[in-house]
Amino acid sequence: MGVTLDSINLDGCLGDNEIELFLLQGYFLEQKQKERINQHLSVCSACFRRYIELRMFHDILFSELRKPISNRVRNLVKGLQNQHQE
Ligand SMILES: [Zn+2]
Repeated sequence: MGVTLDSINLDGCLGDNEIELFLLQGYFLEQKQKERINQHLSVCSACFRRYIELRMFHDILFSELRKPISNRVRNLVKGLQNQHQE
């Protein structure tokens, strides 16, 4: 029925939001959170694969950030912050 290890929300696994915040590291995460994510990525191939995918997306985003900031980018960052605070 399509239930794989990837779809089971194990305690240690990272959500997309968490991985995205990690990609924006330094700005929103505490040191211990960064360490936990780093540690998890080194042992979990599923999350690491997701991390690579998101990083490719963010590489494009960061090149956008070097230009004057667009509303689209500002809203994305604001959305991430709000999700993280809940
Ligand atoms: Zn994982």
